[in-house]
This record gives sequence, structure tokens and C-alpha cells, in this order.
Amino acid sequence: MSHIYQPVMIKKLLLSEGKAHKSEIAQEILSFDSSQVEYYEKVTNNMVGRVLRSHDIVEKEKNHYTLKNYKNLSPKEIEEIIQLCETKIQEYLKKRGMAIWEHRRRNRKPISGSVRYQVLKRAYGRCELCGVSKEEKALEVDHIVPKNLGGEDSINNYQALCFTCNANKRDTDNTDFRELEGYYNTKDTTCIFCNGNFQKIFENNLAFSFLDRYPVTNFHTLIIPKRHCSTFFDLTQAELNAIYGLAQKVKEQIIAKDSSVGGFNIGFNAEEAAGQTVNHCHMHVIPRRKGDVENPIGGIRNVIAGKGQY
Ligand code: 5GP
Ligand code: ZN
Repeated sequence: MSHIYQPVMIKKLLLSEGKAHKSEIAQEILSFDSSQVEYYEKVTNNMVGRVLRSHDIVEKEKNHYTLKNYKNLSPKEIEEIIQLCETKIQEYLKKRGMAIWEHRRRNRKPISGSVRYQVLKRAYGRCELCGVSKEEKALEVDHIVPKNLGGEDSINNYQALCFTCNANKRDTDNTDFRELEGYYNTKDTTCIFCNGNFQKIFENNLAFSFLDRYPVTNFHTLIIPKRHCSTFFDLTQAELNAIYGLAQKVKEQIIAKDSSVGGFNIGFNAEEAAGQTVNHCHMHVIPRRKGDVENPIGGIRNVIAGKGQY
């Protein structure tokens, strides 16, 4: 939206005889922010519109509201009702102050500017649910696992969502929070990765990395979620973020340690049919060096012997 700020402000000033209060300019800018307008369309439909309809004061036809009996009102009556509404608004504002907008304050403790920046950068300035760009809709930094569910204030647990996706998530999320407590602590007593005592190389809230005990190349590393789950397909978005973050670190460290590393194969084996031997989801980070096999063409496509070439 930033590209329209200047013409909107100049136009407002021209239309206000050259001078305007900052709140008037802000309101003018706001009128162009479709995500804010969408938010209040939802409020109109789901809250105030619904109440006024149930009291038989308005009618709704498709996307329009009509005041019932408007045609029978005299100009004097219209004037009186407007005055009455204005009085009610002013009384309410006086009583509640700014507290009436409290519901719009998403986070009690705001996410710092630098963390916000990192999340938006990681998302390449797009909503991570619908893909809309930050130029089209304001993006918010959302807790993937809500805070009241024990979700952490950590970059792994943040995602960039546009206003609409964030509002929809809130509207449709009827998760029983109690059931999810401890979710990320799930362990399997029979699992060697849940119970192993590994020398962790990198760690964050939801994942850690360690060297593979039977490496296929030097520095072959595994990255696993702390929660026990079987395959890649069981990972949550927060765990994917956590594993992705560690993969970047692992890669940086390996290439800093070993200049012969020229590339990587990254992969998850999912299920026995695909060759998985340890039933705790893990990402293989396999450093590759020029000449380590006679012909590297095909990389992971060589999982089916002889099929890697085309
Ligand atoms: P999968 O075949 O399930 O994709 O991979 C399992 C990986 O875990 C293998 O690369 C294997 O070498 C590794 N692995 C198995 N047991 C251990 C262990 O006790 N310690 C470590 N560090 N790696 C293990
Ligand atoms: Zn496990």
C-alpha cells in the first residue's frame, strides 16, 4: 500500500484547504486498506448486522443492508435519530475510552520489530497460508501454536499471515486447547531417537541435529523433531520451521568446516516401503563432494537403482 500513501495524503490536504489533522490523514489512508475494510465487513455481518436483524431494525439482501421503514421517516425524525446515535457513541466512548478497541490488539506483548522482520523475510513478504503479497494485504506475525496453548515466543512458532487468513484461523479454530498441552513433549518409550543420548550439534525449541552414526558421507547429519512422530507428513508447520532453521545452520557449519563439500542431498525416508529404518521422523543432510561417486547425476532419484539417468 505504501505507494499510495503520498498521493492520498496530498489529495486529502488539497481537499481540506491545505491543512489536516494527522488522524484525518490516517483515516483517509485507512479507507484504502482493504484488509481493514474486510475485517469490519466481518464485524458488520457477524455481529452488529446479525443483532439489528434479529431486532427487526435492518434487512439484508445479498451484500446490502436496508433500514426498515426508512421511507416512512420524516426528515425531522431522521435528524433526531442521528442525534440519538451520536449521543450514544459519545457516551460509550467516554465510559470505555480506548478499551473498546482492545480486541484489535492481537498480542499483549508485541513481537519485536527485528523478529517481525525476520519472519516476513523468511516468508518472502507473502502470507504463508494464501500467498498474498504484503503489498496487497497487511501481513501480521501470528503464533502458529497459540500462546494460551503454551505456544512459544520463538521464531519457529511464528508465521506471516495476511489479515484475512489470520481472522479466518481465529474464527474456525475450535481446537480443544487442553488436549494439545504437552503435544510437543510426546515421546515413544520404544524409540531409539526419543531415548538416545545424542551429542547435539544444533538445537532449537522443537528440533535438534546430530551426526549420523553410520554416515554415508563425512558429516552426514540428521535433524529430528523433539516430538516423536513417524514421518515428514506428521510434522507441524512449527516443526518444519524449526527443522528448516537447523538445516541452514548445519549446511553453513559443514561448508565452513570442509571446503571439499560442493553440495547436499536432503531427504526424508517416509515409511518402510521407502526405506525408513528408524520410526522417528528425521531429515538426512548428506554432504556431497565432487567425485564421491562415479556419476552423481540423479542424486536422490537413484533411490531406485538404475533409474537415476534419463
Ligand atoms: P532411515 O533409514 O530411517 O532413513 O535412517 C536412519 C538413520 O539413522 C540411518 O542413517 C542410521 O545410520 C541412523 N542411526 C541409526 N541408529 C543410530 C544411532 O543410534 N545414532 C545415530 N547417531 N544415528 C543412528
Ligand atoms: Zn521417537
